[in-house]
Amino acid sequence: MTETPYLLTPGPLTTSAATKAAMLRDWGSRDAAFIELNARVRARLVEIAGVVDSHVAVPVQGSGTFAVEAMLGSFVPAGGVCLVLRNGAYGARMVDILTRAGREVREIVEPENRPIDPAAVDARLAAEAEIGHVAVVQCETTSGILNPVEGIGEVVARHGRSYLIDAMSAFGALPLGQGQVAFDALAASSNKCLEGVPGFGFVLCREAALAGCAGRAHSLSLDLHDQWRGFEGNAQWRFTPPTHVLAAFDQALTEHAAEGGVQGRGGRYGENCRILVDGMRRLGFETLLPDGLQAPIIVTFLMPGDPRFVFAEFYNRLGDKGFLIYPGKLTVADSFRIGCIGHLGAAEMRAALAAIEETLAEMGVENGSPA
Ligand SMILES: *Cc1c(COP(=O)(O)O)cnc(C)c1O
Repeated sequence: MTETPYLLTPGPLTTSAATKAAMLRDWGSRDAAFIELNARVRARLVEIAGVVDSHVAVPVQGSGTFAVEAMLGSFVPAGGVCLVLRNGAYGARMVDILTRAGREVREIVEPENRPIDPAAVDARLAAEAEIGHVAVVQCETTSGILNPVEGIGEVVARHGRSYLIDAMSAFGALPLGQGQVAFDALAASSNKCLEGVPGFGFVLCREAALAGCAGRAHSLSLDLHDQWRGFEGNAQWRFTPPTHVLAAFDQALTEHAAEGGVQGRGGRYGENCRILVDGMRRLGFETLLPDGLQAPIIVTFLMPGDPRFVFAEFYNRLGDKGFLIYPGKLTVADSFRIGCIGHLGAAEMRAALAAIEETLAEMGVENGSPA
């Protein structure tokens, strides 16, 4: 394997040399320079979402799931009812989180290859007045499917309910209605489309809604209201921050802006995705999703039918060539996944395709067509 492999995965992802290099100094967590860095990062996050006037960014230590758990636990009160829109593993995880926190959950369930239908949400909210919150995953990384967060958001707003979005694998690359989607909270993390290293998540919170969340959280460390009050009070993290990760993230955000923000980043990922899908189809592979439902984040391919295709061997041989892919996580079909996000461009996607073609030849697999 090459020293640093390319990560064609849903995260952590390939990062730039400058982002990695930004971690080569130590920071005092209560030092003025670090406090300034945090303020800059928090300000940039609300700018990216186009919600500077209404929302605040509240970072949370841990992986993305910690941020989702903080969002759900801090916004949905004890005794509250949350409707979870589930068409994959991350929707299922939100159900788990809410259940463990003792919140009541209702669900709309679709198979992994079908998006959530806003009309179905409309019907449930009309029938069930006790539902106070609606939670959705923007890009369900399980399959790579894009859910219509704008359309669902209009329905939720019309019914006057609170809208919570897990935008983990899309934030920074896919637009969110140019700030027009009325969400109360949106969770994402350092190590996906913003191309930082893993170590913290963040929740963009409507300030007016967050102000009403005091005392709701079931957890001390995941209490977004307290975390926010901490930042507002002395501009510091309540507990030890991932200092090096934040320094890397600050650099990653500079690169995001230099690339043209959400539009620039989304454009590169869209091109990566097109190159990947076209190339894989030329080799006989089939995508789980039709192009219209596919987000340019991660692509699910159906397992080839050729008995000489053994996924573990395919994975290891590609790894030896410097490319790490991802196993499938679907219940609807046997599959594997290849990501098109991270610090990768057309040249790396073409190199990955060449490695895949070479690997198939080594394994004696004639083409990738499914059974
Ligand atoms: C990556 C991801 C998460 C968080 O996963 P972690 O492993 O905790 O970082 C949550 N939701 C979605 C949709 C994701 O893609």
